[in-house]
Amino acid sequence: MIMGLTGGIASGKSTVSAWFVNKGARLVDADIIAREVMLPGHPVLDAAVKRFGEGILQPDGSLNRAKLGEIVFADKEALQALNAITHPAIRKEIKARMHALEEEDPRRLTLVDIPLLYESELDNLFERIAVVYVPREVQRERLMARNGMTEVQAESRLKAQMDIEEKRRRATFVIDNSGSPEDTKDQVDELWDRLGL
Ligand code: ADP
Repeated sequence: MIMGLTGGIASGKSTVSAWFVNKGARLVDADIIAREVMLPGHPVLDAAVKRFGEGILQPDGSLNRAKLGEIVFADKEALQALNAITHPAIRKEIKARMHALEEEDPRRLTLVDIPLLYESELDNLFERIAVVYVPREVQRERLMARNGMTEVQAESRLKAQMDIEEKRRRATFVIDNSGSPEDTKDQVDELWDRLGL
């Protein structure tokens, strides 16, 4: 069984996905795939160099993330161009991995953790999506505490994403992580049973 997992920044996705894995789910992690396509030798990195120049590479040929970040965060068109290069490859790889795991053992849960699942319009890959939800104020507090950010910095990160209330509306299942970790863990157990796993 395949299920997408998403949420907002600092809503508790990593915490929740670790619990699912503990219970026996297999994980496809979109963040890891996104990093893999930018490793030396990958055609996606080559295409990015072609578009943005050798300046986005370190002397050893690996990606200079800070440099690429500078380019795309100052320029909407550049960001769109980068997404047009990376997104199709990431989407293809996510699909390939989740279907391979599903074929191996369809009764087991294959959990696909994608932080920007809705923003990247990947929701059409899934019949069921769990959203890890906390109200925006809690999201901001936890983000400030975890990343040592000021309120202004946290707000600007939150503004760059789809509103968490909208994600909650679109979800098949909502895991409310605004209470204690134990409360959340109970919801994971409940959902596990509800899915018949
Ligand atoms: P995400 O992966 O969605 O960005 P994390 O799982 O890293 O979020 O959680 C964000 C922060 O909030 C972390 O510092 C984590 O330890 C903390 N946290 C997660 N769940 C809870 C909870 N139920 N109560 C208090 N703090 C929590």
